[in-house]
Amino acid sequence: MTQAVAVHPLVSPWGRFGLYSFFIDAPEPAIVDTGIASSPAEGMAPALEAIGRRIEDVRWILLTHGHIDHVGGAHALWELTGRRARVVVHEADAPMLRSRRAHVEEYLAGRGRYLDDPGGEAKATAAANAVISAEMEPSLVVRGGETLSLGGDVTVSVHAVPGHTPGSVAYAVDGQRSVFTGDAVQVHGAANGFPGYTDPVAYRASLEYLRDEIRPRRLYLGHPYRRADGTPYGVELDEAEAREALTQSLDVEARVARAARGCLTAGLRETDSPYSPFARVAEELGYTGDPALEPSPFFTSMAGYRTHLEQNL
Ligand SMILES: [Zn+2]
Repeated sequence: MTQAVAVHPLVSPWGRFGLYSFFIDAPEPAIVDTGIASSPAEGMAPALEAIGRRIEDVRWILLTHGHIDHVGGAHALWELTGRRARVVVHEADAPMLRSRRAHVEEYLAGRGRYLDDPGGEAKATAAANAVISAEMEPSLVVRGGETLSLGGDVTVSVHAVPGHTPGSVAYAVDGQRSVFTGDAVQVHGAANGFPGYTDPVAYRASLEYLRDEIRPRRLYLGHPYRRADGTPYGVELDEAEAREALTQSLDVEARVARAARGCLTAGLRETDSPYSPFARVAEELGYTGDPALEPSPFFTSMAGYRTHLEQNL
């Protein structure tokens, strides 16, 4: 590749969250992740106009995973491109693009088991209805290992990095190691202050793969994830920051794993604690965030450790 392909961050605020999408300024322009239903028209279109680009020229919509704050704007963005962009998602997370109900099922199967909230299912349904612009069929379903041509000599490789969700992927602009990981690199978590993943063993393996094999020169995360001191990383991490974020993510997972396994092997106990039955984990880690605040990464990850331990008994 002769010249580096420019990447422009597109930031959409959503309540306590900062949602990051990215414009890849290739001959066939791409947008990585789509925020929520309102993000394409309200956030992306004016931001692109400001840099002299048009949202209708976008030809690729690259989804890092199926969570509502990443796929919610997919249909709206696709419409703004005159339905000409190709929408890419991993096969394991494709149901989250096809169906709002899949988000409710995911809630009920994971964190919903521990959130003592009889209105939880209705809330999850309302959130999916409000935030997802429409259900849609992907144009291209990937598994990792694919190379996408964005025109000229610009190619993007797809890497499976499961753990946060089963179908999490990283997209890497080939030749310049600009890497988009969505929520696959959690460090200390974002707004909830706790890292969230459904499969802790896969999460760890994906972090090692990113650090040791992909080695990002520029790393683009899906949210302002936090360092140990609570300060957030910026919207673009350089090579040293990327390595630090990946190493810290591995360190945090190791600490959470130790506490979770200790709690699970001692036997889960129901208490009045909001962290019940994992109160011992919160205490050991000094976690004081509200575990009920969506997307409840505390209970998502605890459900993941529990499933893994039970499967390996
Ligand atoms: Zn996510």
